[in-house]
Amino acid sequence: MDIIVLRTDATDEDIKHVVKKLESRGLRANVSHGTERTIIGVIGDTSKVTEEEEDAIRAVSGVENVVRILKPYKLASREFRKENTEISVRGVMVGGKKIPVMAGPCAVENKTVLTSIAEKVKAGGASFLRGGAFKPRTSPYAFQGLGEEGLKYLAEASARTGLPVVTEIMDPRDLEVIVKYSDIIQIGARNMQNFRLLLEVGSTQKPVLLKRGLSSTIKEWLMSAEYIMSRGNHQVMLCERGIRTFETATRNTLDLSAVPVLKQLTHLPVVVDPSHGVGKRDLVAPMAKAAVAAGADALLIEVHTNPEEAMSDGEQSLKPEQFERLMKELKPVAEAVGREM
Ligand code: PEP
Ligand code: MN
Repeated sequence: MDIIVLRTDATDEDIKHVVKKLESRGLRANVSHGTERTIIGVIGDTSKVTEEEEDAIRAVSGVENVVRILKPYKLASREFRKENTEISVRGVMVGGKKIPVMAGPCAVENKTVLTSIAEKVKAGGASFLRGGAFKPRTSPYAFQGLGEEGLKYLAEASARTGLPVVTEIMDPRDLEVIVKYSDIIQIGARNMQNFRLLLEVGSTQKPVLLKRGLSSTIKEWLMSAEYIMSRGNHQVMLCERGIRTFETATRNTLDLSAVPVLKQLTHLPVVVDPSHGVGKRDLVAPMAKAAVAAGADALLIEVHTNPEEAMSDGEQSLKPEQFERLMKELKPVAEAVGREM
């Protein structure tokens, strides 16, 4: 017994009753109030709970089901939820038949450039505008992003184009302002195991794009998703963005096998970011197509109107016309695997 799913009409009294029952058996309860229903994660050595005890909990009023999960991640596991999770972001679905594309610059550089890129990606068929206002840079001397000013430009570009915004959080102290201006909170590769940050984001109800850590296994990545979900925020998307290997021909090695692996292990939507995966403009389109063929639910692609002058990741950013062409080329690939662009 690992998870207790409560009925939608369960009362506070019912919840208290279940928690007491668990505590009397030396276990602890993690009550998470999701948007649809309340779920109790059981913490402790659940292997000692007998079937009779499990049945006794199943019989408590307000309890819909008691689920045993063998994986270390519970809420994120396919065992917990058979159907694919679909996340609605201002009316755009992620995880459904249609494959939305999140596109935009690596960083928000200024209002004019951002507005122009936003209009171009919208015209090309993007469903979301991406752009970092808080940038995790290797060098402390490199451009660090515009901070709140950048978030305001994103919100303005969003209002102009109607595209919802994806932007990165690096520090829990920025949570309030990021929640205010964004539609999806991105957790970057470097912060995938920043557990305090994961918990903070988990305590909001904003959809989260959780990027894979530079050297993280799929299991570690799912455990990070579990941190977010354990706080009650179940709207998590996993984004493959390449991992560190011995190979130097590409910036990272885009692990596309992670897509079908994740589809087996979890019900969460899977996003692929070929831009950071390969690091080179010419390689983005073939890997974007391969990602769709492999079963990706969404793509994240860097686009810049003047990549040569971009303040970060220019080498891997598509020009708007290349983005537009790619969007057209993706259509038949999506159809071949029973999806839509
Ligand atoms: C980004 O999306 O611009 C970014 C910094 O990505 P990652 O965390 O995958 O390196
Ligand atoms: Mn980038």
